Amino acid sequence: PVRVRFCPSPTGSPHVGLARTALFNWAFARHHGGTIVFRMEDTDRERSTQESYDAILDLWRWLGLTWDEGIEVGGPHAPYKQSERGEIYADALEKLRESSYTYECFCTNEEVDARRKASGSKVMGYDGFCRELSAEQRAAFEADGRAPVVRFRMPAGSITWTDLVRGDITFETENVPDFALCRANGDPLYTLVNPVDDALMGITHVLRGEDLLSSTPRQIALYDALVALGIAQETPHFGHLPYVMGQGNKKLSKRDPEAHALAYRDQGFLPEGLLNYLALLGWAISGDRDIFSLEEMVEAFDIADVNPNPARFDLKKADAINASHMRLLSTDEITHRALPFLKAAGVVSDPVSDADAQMLELAMPLVAERINKLTEAAPMLDFLFVDEASFTRTDELDGPGRDVVKAAYDALSAIDTWSTAAIDEALRAKLVDELGLKPRNAFGPVRIAVSGRKISPPLFESLELLGRERSLARLHDAMF
Ligand code: GLU
Repeated sequence: PVRVRFCPSPTGSPHVGLARTALFNWAFARHHGGTIVFRMEDTDRERSTQESYDAILDLWRWLGLTWDEGIEVGGPHAPYKQSERGEIYADALEKLRESSYTYECFCTNEEVDARRKASGSKVMGYDGFCRELSAEQRAAFEADGRAPVVRFRMPAGSITWTDLVRGDITFETENVPDFALCRANGDPLYTLVNPVDDALMGITHVLRGEDLLSSTPRQIALYDALVALGIAQETPHFGHLPYVMGQGNKKLSKRDPEAHALAYRDQGFLPEGLLNYLALLGWAISGDRDIFSLEEMVEAFDIADVNPNPARFDLKKADAINASHMRLLSTDEITHRALPFLKAAGVVSDPVSDADAQMLELAMPLVAERINKLTEAAPMLDFLFVDEASFTRTDELDGPGRDVVKAAYDALSAIDTWSTAAIDEALRAKLVDELGLKPRNAFGPVRIAVSGRKISPPLFESLELLGRERSLARLHDAMF
């Protein structure tokens, strides 16, 4: 049975690459009826923060990427926070050490660099100096007060795996230096804890970013040792997902504002819109189709179809995909989803008053088809929810505009029934037929006068919803 893992490190704001990796793991596991394990890789105590931990959980929940075992939900391999698994790593390290898969290394970085320069070697990283220390050498280091790190002894030969995305990959281990498994103070490192947990948690498939590809030969070598020691059953399959490139064809980095995944939620993206866009970063459902649901992705997802070439992150395309998902929602659903944003913007009261709920029900149909993000409703609708005392205009009227508003005021003061049709008829008769104005010049100033903006929901409907009193008061106010 398939078992995959989400294993983020809580060291910053979760970025879109991480969300894309989570999505592909999710779709892969759900497609195969597998299990998703959520483990928090918080061994780096200096860089891990609670804020980042919470943000990661918020993101997964907002996206709806569920998991079956792990943090929050528990499971047979608890605890799922690496910071609480110290004894497990110490135990694994001890077993590796007993069987000579590791050795203690006393070298400083400066010494390693100096030896590399002297020898002219091109291999970066450790040179194996401490592999076979004599008793005297060791005693000298200890007398010097040096505390050793524990290094894994890379086996001779080559390491090959069939990458699920990239096919066969081979590394000669002479190019893969012996690597540290823990710090001199005993703190275990990613190099140890990640494969040990994958082994103990029975992970069968590791799908992760291409940036981790160079660590895979090390992990496979360590895995082989864990299998030999009976700690692991078998080495998982690896698949490395393509890089995500941002502006200027550079790798999207944490410094790029569009890299922050939760910013899309805050900007009013739908989770299904962002997920659909993320799915396209390295995958396609079929040549000519861009818009699909998560269920359709699960149904169709095959890791072998992932394109190994770098994917380009395109904000315009993300916006367009989100807009398409907005069009698939009913007005009621859009209202429901926009409500938190309308509350946060102070457009409606929280909890929503009856009057606000009623106005929302009437007003939302006017804008539901025009907004591409949930945040766009508030600035389009706010004018309908405020009384005259707190109404302000964002856009300005010029002199001719004020004359138009005066004529509109006269025309609308005279109508009997305050309805969209009557408003439409009266304004057209006065401004277009009598004064000979082009519709744009006729209705633009009226729009600014009553809504405060050049862009608003349809004008006549808006006037009806606003009501006679407020409409006339705003027109009157805008005349001078
Ligand atoms: N915690 C690691 C990271 O966030 C996980 C890497 C992996 O998937 O192996 O980079």
